[in-house]
Formats: sequence, structure tokens, C-alpha cells
Amino acid sequence: MSSELTGLTLATARDGLAKGDFTSVELTQAHVAAVEAVRPLNAYITETPEKALEMAAESDKRIAAGKAGAMEGLPIAIKDLFCTKGVLTTAGSHILDGFHPTYESTVTANLFGAGAVMLGKVNLDEFAMGSANMTSYYGAVENPWKRKDDKKTKLVPGGSSGGSAAAVAARAALAATGTDTGGSIRQPASFTGIVGLKPTYGRCSRWGTVAFASSLDQAGPMTRSVRDAAIMLGAMAGFDPKDSTSMDKPVPNFEAALDGGVKGMRIGIPREYRMDGMPAEIEKLWQQGIGWLKGAGATIVDIDLPHTKYALAAYYIVAPAEASSNLARYDGVRYGLRVPGQTLQEMYENTRAEGFGREVKRRVLIGTYVLSAGYYDAYYLKAQKVRSRIAGDFRDAFDHVDAILAPTAPNAAFGQGENMDDPIAMYLNDVFTVPASLAGLPAISVPAGLSAEGLPLGLQIIGRPFDEETVLRAARSLEDAADFDTKPDFIAGR
Ligand code: GLN
Repeated sequence: MSSELTGLTLATARDGLAKGDFTSVELTQAHVAAVEAVRPLNAYITETPEKALEMAAESDKRIAAGKAGAMEGLPIAIKDLFCTKGVLTTAGSHILDGFHPTYESTVTANLFGAGAVMLGKVNLDEFAMGSANMTSYYGAVENPWKRKDDKKTKLVPGGSSGGSAAAVAARAALAATGTDTGGSIRQPASFTGIVGLKPTYGRCSRWGTVAFASSLDQAGPMTRSVRDAAIMLGAMAGFDPKDSTSMDKPVPNFEAALDGGVKGMRIGIPREYRMDGMPAEIEKLWQQGIGWLKGAGATIVDIDLPHTKYALAAYYIVAPAEASSNLARYDGVRYGLRVPGQTLQEMYENTRAEGFGREVKRRVLIGTYVLSAGYYDAYYLKAQKVRSRIAGDFRDAFDHVDAILAPTAPNAAFGQGENMDDPIAMYLNDVFTVPASLAGLPAISVPAGLSAEGLPLGLQIIGRPFDEETVLRAARSLEDAADFDTKPDFIAGR
């Protein structure tokens, strides 16, 4: 019974709860056991079983009273970048040691208000900087998938939302929250065979989410189906007066938008995403996706996004610049860790030297450099100009098409420790995800096939601002055609 419960989707669990097939307490107990069973993956930083069972009992009362919310009684994992009231929040960093927020992030408050049950806080790259979940102070996360001919090598789950991805793929949460600054929802979704949706910038409030790069950060759902992404986004999203960049727009019924298919839809295929040296299997998967959408009645249109080749460079200037400024607040006075020194200045230096890991320090150095007098115009301002060109490319393309199809990542999951001595090789993982981030557009990754090594590969749909409905509908069509039902090697309860 318990592995049946952990194998459900949000939608099927919701329906089971409504019919009285099981209670939220039963569903949550099964998941608490699953969370324990997947400990070897190191997906969770903090498990909150008592809280989960308490929340589940409250949900059961609301269900009985006919007052169920959209996520009522459904156990999920929370990326440890969202502040959760009274529960340790680390951002994967030593510098937040012992930080128990006195407030709840808007996104988690929305989810809990809709009835969601929190299983715990999941691991991530330190301050969400990374593509492999190798930079967390709490250790690396392991992908529940293995290569088909090599069951020994431990693979990365992608990053930065690697704990979210591993927990959902290994059946240790029905879904999880993620955040995506340059690909951190979509790339780990692709690496672990799940669905990951980055909404339009401004769709979800950033209030109470530890900031990495404020003009790029967006929260979104990581789930095992496109329908689940629609359900969960509906519960997360909404205007928040506490975040001046959240948009005062009504939240549509995303689940209702799933129906209708892609018949008559115009799907753009960006020429510039056909990069030199792109592995043949990625190209093949992309062609496959084109065929599926065409078969479902979409019109395929070649489009140009001419500034694509500058996106990665612009991102790795803008994101570190904003990070260096956001991370200035960790000074040993206000949060978490403090390492004493002879003077105030020395205390700052000691705290930051010990509290931040190597990748975070690299970004702070790059960020302060590109913002410094004398280099600001040459780097930061230039990157901002490139960014607006990239957004312009998409605007032009969306005059002709309704959505864009591209691969999510240039490769499948790689081994733990690979790409670690070459930051540029690591940054290349973001080549297909960063442009939509810079332009603030909604984009989703859907599991679409397996690599030659037997590992999941995702395809990405990018849409117009605030048109998550079209993105979800096209994703649903891909999901139907791909019929991806292969499971990872490591699943809780098996
Ligand atoms: N991999 C990218 C980076 O390291 C994206 C991270 C993210 O989206 N949070 O910046």
C-alpha cells in the first residue's frame, strides 16, 4: 500500500483523498517512511515528520468538513531557499547556520494555505549557485538514476534544485518547490526525468525566498506530470504587495488550460540553439519533439534568436553582480554564523571567509569586479544591453509563433565530481535555459526520452510572458507523445 501511495501524482492523490480511499495522515506516513528510505541520496537537509503529520491531520479535518484547498493534504518538499517559519533555513550555506526565520515566505504560505503538507527542506547548491548540486555545505545530492551499463558511478541530479528533483524522482515527495535563476528548475528536472516549470518573472512572489539574483529568481513547481505542475503553480502564484516585482494579474485556472492540444498552434524552432558540438542524441530528441508536435497538429516554424550566443556570457555577469550585492548582508551580525575577530572588520572577513564556499566566493569576486568603477560600463552595462537584445529577439519571435521548442540541457546527468575543475564547462549546462531567464519568460522541461546511457533527457517549451497556459498545453502534448514511464534505479519502498 505505502509504495502505491508514494507512486501517485498530485492529481491522483487529490482524487483519492476526495473519494476517501485514504487519509492525508496515511499518505503522509507513507511519505515520511519514503523520506527515511532515500536518505542515502542526501536529498533532504531537514526532515520535518512531526510537522508533516500535524499538517496532515488538519488537512483530514478540512477534507471531512468539505473545505479542501487545491493542495489539500498533499505531501511536498520545500527547497531550502524558502524561509519557513520556525524551521531551519540554510540556502545550502554554512553562513546561515542555525537560521530559523520568524516569517514564512509568500510561496510557502500560499502552498500551506492551499493545504499542502511539508515533509521537510531539501538540499540545493549553496545559494542556488550551481548545476550539479555539488556545492552545498550539506554535501552533494545523488541522482536516483544510474547509467544502464554502470551502476557504480554516482550521478548528479542537476542543480541548483537537485534535492527537489531527487526527492520527487525517487518518490520521496509528491512534488517539490524549486527556484530557477538560470535553469535551476528545468535542468535538474531534465536530469531526473521529472517536469519542472519556471513561471514568468513576477508570477510568483520572491518575498521570503533567499535572494540570489533578484532580477532573475523565480519560484516554480517540480512534479511528476504536467497536470501536477499546473495544479501546484496555481497554488504558488499570485500578486504579493510585499514583492514590488510580483505582477498584479489574476491567476488563471492552469489545470483547465491543459485541454485543447496544440492543433493550430505555431511552434518556433530557434536556429541558434543548434550549437556546434551538440551531441547527436540531443539533436535527435529535439527532432523527435518536433515530429510529435507536428503530428498533434502544430505548425512548425523556423525562427531566429540572433543574440543567443551572448546569453551565457551576459548571464554570468548579471547574476554574479546581483549576487554580490544580495550576499553583502551576510556579515556575521544579522544571520547565522559569526566567526570572531580582533576588530569589526576582521569579524566580517572571518565570517565570510569561513561561511561561504568556493563557488559563492567566485561569484562574489566576479560580481564586485564587474560592478566596480572603471569596469561597470565595459561589463555590467554591456551585459544589460545584451540582455535587452535577447528579450527583443524573443519579442520578435513571438510575433510569429505561440511557443518555442528546444532541448532543456546539452547533456544528460554526469558523474559526481565531473566538470568541477572547470567552471566554464559547468556553466555550459545552462546554455539552453539561460536565455528564457534573461527575458523573464515562462519555460517548462518535460521528460522526453533516454540517452544512450539510459538516462532521462528533457525537452523545453518557452512561452510568451504570462502565457503559462500555452506552455502547459504544449508540454501536455509532448508528455502524451513521449509517454515517458521509465523509473529511476532508486525508488523509495522498492
Ligand atoms: N546553473 C546556474 C548558475 O549556477 C543557474 C542556477 C539557478 O538557476 N539558480 O547560476
